Order: sequence, then structure tokens, then C-alpha cells
Amino acid sequence: MNKKLKEKLIDIEPYIPGEQPKGDGIIKLNTNECPYPPSPRVAEALKKIESGRLNLYPDFVCKELKEIISENYPINPEEIFLGNGSDEVLALCFRAFFNSKKPVLFPDITYSFYTVWAELFGIPYGTVALREDFTLDKEGFFEENGGVVIPNPNAPTSIAAPKSVIEEIIEKNRDSIVIIDEAYVDFSEEGSIAALIHKYDNLVVVQTYSKSRALAGIRFGYAFADKELIAVLEAVRNSFNSYTINTVTRILAEESGKDRGYFEICVNSIKRTRQRLTDGLSDMGFVTCPSGSNFVFTSKPGISGKELFEYLKSKNIYVRHFDKPKISDHLRITVGTDKEIDTLLNEIEKFLHR
Ligand SMILES: *Cc1c(COP(=O)(O)O)cnc(C)c1O
Repeated sequence: MNKKLKEKLIDIEPYIPGEQPKGDGIIKLNTNECPYPPSPRVAEALKKIESGRLNLYPDFVCKELKEIISENYPINPEEIFLGNGSDEVLALCFRAFFNSKKPVLFPDITYSFYTVWAELFGIPYGTVALREDFTLDKEGFFEENGGVVIPNPNAPTSIAAPKSVIEEIIEKNRDSIVIIDEAYVDFSEEGSIAALIHKYDNLVVVQTYSKSRALAGIRFGYAFADKELIAVLEAVRNSFNSYTINTVTRILAEESGKDRGYFEICVNSIKRTRQRLTDGLSDMGFVTCPSGSNFVFTSKPGISGKELFEYLKSKNIYVRHFDKPKISDHLRITVGTDKEIDTLLNEIEKFLHR
């Protein structure tokens, strides 16, 4: 390609998702998916989908789906924005709400997609260092800024900040949009701050069906915010792609949303296995962050994170390793089934006694 042609192309370093290896006997604990299938109601609904209706564009109002979501939260349908996974919702939020010359702030150790969107949209950004123990340093977010993004619980640390700390950050930033990314909130004892959107018109809460609802494959996420903010988000989406929720996704998300019972069984099961995993790691001398998520973040003094990662991979067990300062000896391990976690713990034991 000639230089002048090349100059016209965007030069961007993309987000790198965890691998999606295929094959028998692979234990996949690297992308925080749910190890269980979605609600049986989803399977039933999938069988009944009328393919003859797929010639039509999807229903972009999604009234029923919004009503189902608002049953679990004290939120009105006009305070809900739906998207093709929360990654899309977050990307549209960045475009819609971060239009300042001042930097958007997020933690230094966090979801690596935030930097990618900031780069893609040309948004200035800065990071606020987590404390030594990977907890949030709220003071750093009181500096002047063009916006704030915090995942709570944070990824990949798994730690949930108390609601009071999050509220203080929102309260001190009345002139900026504060996005709280609650991808893992259902696994946390802290719970959602969604109801605070009625108190703070600068708050956006983002959630997803990818983790706790076991529906990463349908791509469905949403945001709660004051209806004026939602209207801006809708304007941005409609300047890009009006139909981000496809017909199949809408129908399956509705069914999952209605099945509160199955959802609770799944989440509780993951929390129990998380405890077993944490205890098993602790017995082998690992230090694990207190997790409010469906994954743990762990390390053992004197053990190389990269070596353990490579060893597990050679045994067909995929976890996540980040070659980054401060966390290069940590592994992020998704909570799988009890059986998967037993195999994992066994292999780690073998690694330690090589
Ligand atoms: C998984 C994840 C998301 C994205 O989830 P979607 O599958 O796009 O809904 C967003 N934020 C964080 C912190 C995540 O870990």
C-alpha cells in the first residue's frame, strides 16, 4: 500500500478479547462467561421463533423488554437504553457524553476497552491509580475531568467498592457524566446503584445479560439514566444504526428477564463455587482479591503468572493473564462449574510440585 493511501487509514490498537478455543476437553475460564446454559425458557422461545417474520426490521422500541427490565429495578422505561451488548452501550456513551477537552478518568487497572474507545473517538483520558490492595482511590476522581468511568465490581480485580464511595464520586462530579459499569453487579453483595439515577442526573448505570444471565452469545446490554441522557444516547445510536437489538435477541432477552428464579439459582451456584475456588487457592498459598464477581483475581508470591498461565493452557485450561505492570503475576480465573474448578485446582497443585 502506498504511503498517501496508508495515511488515510485509522491507526488504532484494538481491544483483544480472550481466546475462544474450540475442541473437546477444553476448560474455558478466560472470558467470564457463565458456565451454565441460559434459562430453559430461552431454549423454548428459540424453538418457537417464526423465521417467516425475519424479513421485517426488528421492533426498535422494545417496549415489553424495557418493562421486564424495569420490573427488577425502580426504573421507568424511558430511563432505559438497550444495545448490542454492553460494549456497544458503553461505546455509544463515550461518544455521546465525553465531549470535553478535559480528560475522562478511569482506574489504572480496569477494563481495557475504555482506552480503546477513548482512542477511537479522540477523547482525552487519564487514569487514577488503584491503591496497593487494588481498591478504588476515590480522591483521584475528585479532580477536574471530562467524565468518569468506573466498573463496579472492577475488572480484572473483581473487587466491589462500597455504594457510599461510588455515590460520593457521583456527588462530587455533578458537572460530568459518571458511568458505572455494572457488568458483574449481580455477583456482588453491594448490589446495584441503579436507583440513584433519580437522585443524580449525571449518572449512567450500565448492565449486561452476558455474565449473570448466561447470554453472552445474544449480545444484549443496557443503560439506566435520566431520560434526557437516554434521549441523547438514542440520537447517537440513530446516527449510526437504528436496529441494534435484533429480533432474536429481543425475544430471548425477554424470556430470560422473566425467569427470575433460574437467574437466582445460577448466581447462587456461581457464588458457592467462587468460595470453593478461593478456599482451594488459599490452601495452596495464593492470595485472592475479595471477589464480588463471577471470577477471581489471584497470585502466589514467588510464582510467575505467565508461567502458570502457560502451564494451564498446555493442560487445556484457559484462564486470563495480563502482561501489564502491577498485575503481571496475577491470573484472572472465571468461576466455572464445580467439576471444572476441581480440575483447575488439581492442575495448579501439580504445577506447584513440578
Ligand atoms: C464483560 C464486560 C463488559 C461487556 O459485556 P457485553 O458482553 O458487551 O455486554 C463490559 N464491561 C466489563 C467490565 C466487562 O467485564
